[in-house]
Amino acid sequence: MTKKQQNFKTRISLKYVFTGAFAALFLVFVMLTSFSYFQLKNVKTALDSTSKESIPTIIAFDNIANKSAALVFYTEQLASALTPPALRLAQQQIDTEMKEISVLLSEASVDEIVLREFETIQFELTALSNLVNQRLNAKSNAAMAERQVYVLFTKAQQMLENKNRTDKQALTPWFNSFSRLIISTGSLAGYSQLNEIRNVRSDVEDIYTNIQAITNQLPAKLASDATAFNQRFSLIVLAESGFIDNRILQLRIEGRTNGRGNFTGKLVSDFARSLNFKSAVINEQILLNAQQEEKKISLQIRLLSVFFGISIVLFIIIVWLLRLRVINRLILLNRQVSREESATSKLTLATAEDEITDIAKTFETFLQTIEEQQKDLSLLAMQDGLTSIANRRSFDKQFVNNYKLAVRHNKPLSVLIIDVDYFKSYNDSYGHVKGDEALIEIANTLQKSMHRDVDFVARYGGEEFVCLLPSCNIEGALTIAENLRQAVLKLKIAHCQNPTGEYITISIGGATAMNFSELDITPDKLLEAADKALYTAKERGRNLVKIVSYGQ
Ligand code: GH3
Ligand code: MG
Ligand code: MG
Repeated sequence: MTKKQQNFKTRISLKYVFTGAFAALFLVFVMLTSFSYFQLKNVKTALDSTSKESIPTIIAFDNIANKSAALVFYTEQLASALTPPALRLAQQQIDTEMKEISVLLSEASVDEIVLREFETIQFELTALSNLVNQRLNAKSNAAMAERQVYVLFTKAQQMLENKNRTDKQALTPWFNSFSRLIISTGSLAGYSQLNEIRNVRSDVEDIYTNIQAITNQLPAKLASDATAFNQRFSLIVLAESGFIDNRILQLRIEGRTNGRGNFTGKLVSDFARSLNFKSAVINEQILLNAQQEEKKISLQIRLLSVFFGISIVLFIIIVWLLRLRVINRLILLNRQVSREESATSKLTLATAEDEITDIAKTFETFLQTIEEQQKDLSLLAMQDGLTSIANRRSFDKQFVNNYKLAVRHNKPLSVLIIDVDYFKSYNDSYGHVKGDEALIEIANTLQKSMHRDVDFVARYGGEEFVCLLPSCNIEGALTIAENLRQAVLKLKIAHCQNPTGEYITISIGGATAMNFSELDITPDKLLEAADKALYTAKERGRNLVKIVSYGQ
């Protein structure tokens, strides 16, 4: 046996082989399952973040951007509102858009910067709205002052009309100056530049100074009328928050309103653009994530295929092991056991040292024991218990076989019946134990006297023996019988009751069969003839041999 073979036969318990194999398979299975589970979870998380965060944010951003475009338009309307209703309308539209944007922002996950931008827009819109309000107030104040100026002028005209001619004439220079004052003031509405307004103020102040001088030269009664108009004019036009101041304020607010309106419009546009940009960034991020996930998934599919392949290979190995180490060997063991082979041919299962080999070895021991017992039994069945030579059953078998051979080859067959003379009286004289001993001695002598392998001796029963002599003619049978008689006599077993002599003697009757093909010879008939010959030998005085030829 080579070293390699010896190593192979190192005991490896099936328990460990299959526990190891199934543990490996289980491990691969657990790895496969947990790997798939965690990878699917990752994919789910990525999809969740896309569907629950990114996509709603993109949609919200797009909506906000659209609303912001509308907001730009309403902001322009607000900034350019000429009347309070137009202002209110624009404000309402802006409020609605702002509320909707605010809701969209709260739904989308936006960062601080966006929220701050939105707050700034809100602040700016409020400020713009206030400015527009102020502008409209200033405008309305200016319009009111203008109306008051014209009312004052009409009153001055009426006052002049109501004067008599002399007073009229006296008041004419003052009225002319007052008219110039009104005309100059009236030009205020047509100017939209501050310096133009300031020029008008300077003109009006000059005219006013001049009219005061004119007024001072008037008679006291008329002067008081004129002074009332002068003061009233000064109050409406020149005083703080008067027509001119109002007009300046109006222009200033208009400038600021335009600036703020443009600024706020730009702010809203930038806000919309920044949201568009952000949504484009998120879009790109989603695309990038999707590409990364796709890469991951294809890698996972490859890994899963490898794991799957490994588990298939493991499974095949387990099945192969099961076949090689268990099923094949059990089949072989079953065949060997059921064939009932000789115990000397060992059960060829020693391909491994394990539990099956143990079973095979146990079976081997069983088979050996059974075969040995069978041998003993068959030996006992064919052997005479006392003398240990063949018994009658054995003789019957042998006789039939020899008879068949003799018939087939047409060879002679002789049979001898040997009977101990006066053995009853020997027993009576020496006892049964001695009788048994004598029988054993006679049997051994008869056995030893058989010189050919084919010659056969058996105890037929009691103190009778039989002898089969195949291919032996009557002369041969006579010689052998005579030898046997002499051999027993030579034993010199004392027999005081034997009338033929002082020792134990035997009588032999024999029959030789020839020409089987011609005559109807059977083993029974041959034996009967031998028995008759024995009877003759006995009758003739015993210690004799009588052989007859049968079938001639
Ligand atoms: P014969 O010369 O006519 O044969 O006389 P015999 O006394 O031998 O013949 P018989 O048939 O009358 O007696 C046979 C005796 O053999 C009877 C029995 O006591 C004895 N015998 C038979 N079998 C055994 C045996 O196994 N042991 C012993 N000791 N004696 C046996
Ligand atoms: Mg007898
Ligand atoms: Mg006898």
